[in-house]
Amino acid sequence: MPRIPTYDDVAAAAARIAPAAHRTPVLTSRTADEEAGASLFFKCENFQRMGAFKFRGAYNALSCFDSGQRKAGVVAFSSGNHAQAVALSARLLGMPATIVMPHDAPAAKVAATRGYGGTVVVYDRYKEDREAIGRRLAEEGGLTLIPPFDHPDVIAGQGTAAKELIEEAGPLDALFVCLGGGGLLSGSALAARALAPGCKVYGVEPEAGNDGQQAFRAGHLVHIEVPKTIADGAQTQSLGKITFEIIRRDVDDVFTASDAELVEAMRFFATRMKMIVEPTGCLGFAAARRMKNELKGQRVGVLISGGNVDLARFAALVAG
Ligand SMILES: *Cc1c(COP(=O)(O)O)cnc(C)c1O
Repeated sequence: MPRIPTYDDVAAAAARIAPAAHRTPVLTSRTADEEAGASLFFKCENFQRMGAFKFRGAYNALSCFDSGQRKAGVVAFSSGNHAQAVALSARLLGMPATIVMPHDAPAAKVAATRGYGGTVVVYDRYKEDREAIGRRLAEEGGLTLIPPFDHPDVIAGQGTAAKELIEEAGPLDALFVCLGGGGLLSGSALAARALAPGCKVYGVEPEAGNDGQQAFRAGHLVHIEVPKTIADGAQTQSLGKITFEIIRRDVDDVFTASDAELVEAMRFFATRMKMIVEPTGCLGFAAARRMKNELKGQRVGVLISGGNVDLARFAALVAG
């Protein structure tokens, strides 16, 4: 079993990423508060560098490399925000980054990753095994693989967003966190348990892909098929070993939100708060809105995880 990070790792990560990461704003909305009958505090990681919280975990993990690892560089598999987070962090820290992406990854994401200085290695997702490609790259070039969620330094870095939120908003009664593989949720739970012991911590997954909810309730990891949902940042098939250990210990429950609820939340953020939030970033708010009866009079934190959605897709979703 790999090392389980603690709150001390989150605090250390906060110091490490401070020179590079944005301290993102905590916004409030009178309309949201009136609708919920509660006080909502939105931690806006859609305004983080490269547009999502993933920068926190990637930058922290790469900052922990020794000199040999820095020289050889990092390798990551991802077609989403983790790819851009690793590529940007590597550039800032002056090390090479290789990102393994499927041949059918969106051109904009490939271009963004290259734009941050990453070398993109394309593979055919129907014919090639990305694990084998990664192992080969790691063995031949001595590269260090950084996974998107199941890594102690990644989890500790992701926990810094909730740490900042609680420090700024004060004690919370509940915290809603978007859930894919569980890096953000497990890091947030470490921060909340240390800084706001009475705070309930909830993960929120897409309805079509509730592997985390199933795992949480069953007490063991559950694997599912790639879920069909507009929440492309949470199309994971299973929680990680480390993230699950923390989630089962420190999280209070896992809920789901439907694609229609995510679109409603995107509309709310756009019209009321003038923000572009990607579908996955709306998971926490979508569940909090539905639970307004339980949350009456409470102080509620909502983590908005990212804002990377291309404009044509955004327009089609909110207009539809
Ligand atoms: C990766 C990602 C998530 C899910 O994070 P996990 O750490 O995998 O649970 C949620 N929202 C956005 C925008 C993401 O990029």
